[in-house]
Amino acid sequence: MPKDKEVLVEVDHLKKYFHVGGGQTLKAVEDVTFDIYKGETLGLVGESGCGKSTLGRTLIRLYEATGGSVKFAGEPVHGKKSKAELKKLSRSVQMIFQDPYASLNPRMSVEDLIAEGMDAHGLAKNRTERHNRVIELLELVGLNKDHAKRFPHEFSGGQRQRIGIARALAVDPEFIIADEPISALDVSIQAQVVNLLRKLQRELGLTYLFIAHDLSMVKHISDRIGVMYLGNMVELADSDEIFEEPLHPYTRALLSAIPVPDPHLERSREERVLLQGDLPSPIDPPSGCRFRTRCPFATEECAKTVPQWREARPNHWVACHLYGDGEMAQNRLKQEASDEQ
Ligand code: SF4
Repeated sequence: MPKDKEVLVEVDHLKKYFHVGGGQTLKAVEDVTFDIYKGETLGLVGESGCGKSTLGRTLIRLYEATGGSVKFAGEPVHGKKSKAELKKLSRSVQMIFQDPYASLNPRMSVEDLIAEGMDAHGLAKNRTERHNRVIELLELVGLNKDHAKRFPHEFSGGQRQRIGIARALAVDPEFIIADEPISALDVSIQAQVVNLLRKLQRELGLTYLFIAHDLSMVKHISDRIGVMYLGNMVELADSDEIFEEPLHPYTRALLSAIPVPDPHLERSREERVLLQGDLPSPIDPPSGCRFRTRCPFATEECAKTVPQWREARPNHWVACHLYGDGEMAQNRLKQEASDEQ
């Protein structure tokens, strides 16, 4: 991540609700605040249904926000905008999807698929320039000019994801949301796609939000990692710190679930936090801390009060009463002090 941290995306108390019939509301994203710095990769993890994809889509206005705000390069993303402003936003931000096959029209050639965004934004002066740019993009993502005239069904999953990446890059975006881009790929291909994304980031100065359901998938690409649970962001810190000194019990549970190949290491792992029960419904989430029904440390305070999102350590944010200023935090500190003696 660059040293001079310039904020590219500013998310402030963002909410996204959906009305689901019967007068019920699904609170998919609830009061989420964080920044994404220019040139970084922010990994976003959580179980399926935790709101991470909804958050990603709301950041780039694929969904309207229910409350709060998002700024991209200092400009509000939501609210009334002119056609020119919307066009500028749609060029600056792009998405890469989990299932590249579903996101590619099977009747279009690779050349037309990649050039679709360029056509919409009028980026090529003529057919030759359009063709040359497509070839350049194919080579940039590790494919070649012979692939331009072929159709999506002629490619493997990994190659289709490369086509999806070329398609996103065709409009020269600044910010890319990669929504589970490697989850559907074979393990052997996952590393290739991650390496490609890292190479492109270095060469083109891109900023990524990389969404995954598993911490091990974001480990090698993320500068920082945010952890979501049932619509809330519960922890956000540098990638190394999340793996070495996780604070939130949910993050600790996710880490405990990652198998360690070495049996000696596995035995010597510090206290493991095991997840109990299933993810509750975001239509009727638990009161107070939404994680309390599965948290081994939950107390009455957790049921009564929503934990505040606070910077517990420099650049390390967490929402948990164990790191607040109440009794639970004092008890934790006393316990830690007696453990050290
Ligand atoms: Fe567990 Fe309470 Fe912290 Fe929530 S606030 S994670 S229930 S200890």
